[in-house]
Amino acid sequence: MVDCPCGTSRSFTDCCEPYLKGKRHAETAATLMRTRYTAYTRHHIDYLLSTYDPDQQYLFDRETTLDWARRSKWLSLEIRDCRGGTLHDDEGTVEFVAWYVRGERTHRHHEVSSFRKVDERWYYVDGRYPSASALLGAESRRTTAS
Ligand SMILES: [Zn+2]
Repeated sequence: MVDCPCGTSRSFTDCCEPYLKGKRHAETAATLMRTRYTAYTRHHIDYLLSTYDPDQQYLFDRETTLDWARRSKWLSLEIRDCRGGTLHDDEGTVEFVAWYVRGERTHRHHEVSSFRKVDERWYYVDGRYPSASALLGAESRRTTAS
């Protein structure tokens, strides 16, 4: 059994696969985040497009996204913080760090992603680099946890 790329200890078939296949829709923003990460690792471009903000889907560049996903070896995902984004919300943000190798180097992608719900479905809207205060908060939380 292969653990799901998104970092849960569940198998891919029990975790992200039903979402990628369209059998389930992400119940929360955090689940959408995880499944989109897995979609990157599996080069599942259709899922990335279908979960992208409907108002911006015309901007989606399939070739660039696929190329980016293919040239990266995805190592791990760490979800650091979630605000809103639950079953009862219409908006939410998820802060995460993803590690990947490109060329000879390991890279760290740190982002606060925004999500919104349209017709009971969650969509990815955009991402930004975390603010300094969010970074400090994350560092102190990590220190406390260890
Ligand atoms: Zn998963």
